[in-house]
Amino acid sequence: VPSIVLIAGRYKVPLYPISRGRNWGYGDACPVTEGQALLDLSDLQGIEVNDRLAYAVIEPGVTQKQLFDRLERSHPRLWMDATGSGLHASVLGNSVERGFGHTPFGDHFAHTCGMEVVLADGTVLQTGMGHYGGSRLAHTYKWGIGPSLDGLFSQSNLGVVTRVGLWLMPRPQRFEVFVASVGNEQDFESFIERLRPLRQSGVLQSTVHISNDLRTLSSARPYPLDLTGGRVPIPAEVRAKLLKHAHYGAWSAVGALYGTPGEVRARRQALEQALRGLGRVRYITSARLRLLKGAARLLKRAHLPGAKALADLAATAQPVYDLLRGKPSDFFLQGPRWRARTPSPTSPDPLDSNCGFYTVAPLAAMTGEDGRRLLDILYRVIERHRFDPMISITLLNGRAMACVTTLYYDRSDEEESKRARLCYDDLLDALMKTRFIPYRMGIESMDRLDPDDDTFWQLVGRLKEALDPGHVLAPGRYNPAEARIFKKP
Ligand SMILES: Cc1cc2nc3c(=O)[nH]c(=O)nc-3n(C[C@H](O)[C@H](O)[C@H](O)COP(=O)(O)OP(=O)(O)OC[C@H]3O[C@@H](n4cnc5c(N)ncnc54)[C@H](O)[C@@H]3O)c2cc1C
Repeated sequence: VPSIVLIAGRYKVPLYPISRGRNWGYGDACPVTEGQALLDLSDLQGIEVNDRLAYAVIEPGVTQKQLFDRLERSHPRLWMDATGSGLHASVLGNSVERGFGHTPFGDHFAHTCGMEVVLADGTVLQTGMGHYGGSRLAHTYKWGIGPSLDGLFSQSNLGVVTRVGLWLMPRPQRFEVFVASVGNEQDFESFIERLRPLRQSGVLQSTVHISNDLRTLSSARPYPLDLTGGRVPIPAEVRAKLLKHAHYGAWSAVGALYGTPGEVRARRQALEQALRGLGRVRYITSARLRLLKGAARLLKRAHLPGAKALADLAATAQPVYDLLRGKPSDFFLQGPRWRARTPSPTSPDPLDSNCGFYTVAPLAAMTGEDGRRLLDILYRVIERHRFDPMISITLLNGRAMACVTTLYYDRSDEEESKRARLCYDDLLDALMKTRFIPYRMGIESMDRLDPDDDTFWQLVGRLKEALDPGHVLAPGRYNPAEARIFKKP
């Protein structure tokens, strides 16, 4: 990697590093501006695991599946955290992009420790304690001594990350997935207010994901073309009919409880007590899944009705259960197919099905009022552009939530594609103005990160000039001034 970076610098060819390039919804494997060569790191697939100290050191090309398989095979007492982005998305790329997953280790960048980074001049840097050769603290103590530099290499274009330490979760004695739902849209504020204290006090340890009804529906079935004649948004009566049939509440929260059997029991009680009178809580456990599958088999063998419904239920619940224990799957890649006219029968990759989607992921403080203000903005803009609101809100910690909003559109329809882009632009404008700033940005909008020419982004520009004066590494990535200069009209 240092040699490639030096050659690119000499010949003034900008390089855009990718790990696996599955940055779907935020630009896929594409650079921010044209004319950049992809530095594809997917062949670097080294994994080392320290079982006693519960961490792995991984290279950029390591996929979620590869890390999961290694742990399952050789270190079954350790769990990783996985995202919904499929078996072949990377672990390192997602962590440097500050993605998040589903277990108590769901904040990925927070659980990295010690990076190896190639700078634009070919220098190889070890962050944290790693630069003290032979230190046993390289992947066990994050801060090092002196300035903590790790943050400079996440959501930035100041270096190419070639290795990272990743803390792993000791497998808990007991683990249960919960699905808590509220019936009406108006219950949303109370739902957040009641869940926040549980997240703050650590009763709920994992990143809880709260989806609206349509978002939940999109992971279970394609767009109801037959009932809508292809029109977007779904007419109210069709939406009501579909949701009634699927038994979804207006908002459903999915998370898990981890610990000893006694701890899990106590967490269950606290959760049920907090939601009493507002919503209902159901659980997915390994025993229930076995029961469900067994019952489906029995019904099928006896040619009794209901076998398919039970089998379908198990097929939907299993990947959710798995994800909450860090097991990745391609199941959730069905979501982007919502509006696809020509879904590929063989490939789960959304690009192979010509799926169109933009993702906007604003953050909000974790109060019911903040959440409602944000939803009002999203609903208003999305409705104005005649799309369906597909929303998933993640309680990242006890204080902030990320509202992943996806605009699915039919890429084969030119008018709808244009409308989706306008809608995305308007959403981003409205969100930046109201200070619901995204936690991560798509490549098409890096230049809009700094509407006020503020000191923060000026400093980012100065750091870039100091470390990469030739603008070799990923020009424009999380560098709005540079994005504006390099962007072609
Ligand atoms: C259905 C669906 C579900 C999803 N679920 C989630 C989810 O649960 N959580 C989530 O976070 N995201 C999710 N995503 C978004 C996205 O697919 C993931 O974040 C995915 O992990 C990103 O792709 P990747 O890991 O291959 O990273 P890459 O695409 O390789 O990397 C992402 C970006 O990081 C930078 N980068 C990568 N590697 C390096 C490096 N070595 N050095 C410097 N910079 C680098 C590049 O600029 C790159 O564009 C989902 C998307 C879809 C379609």
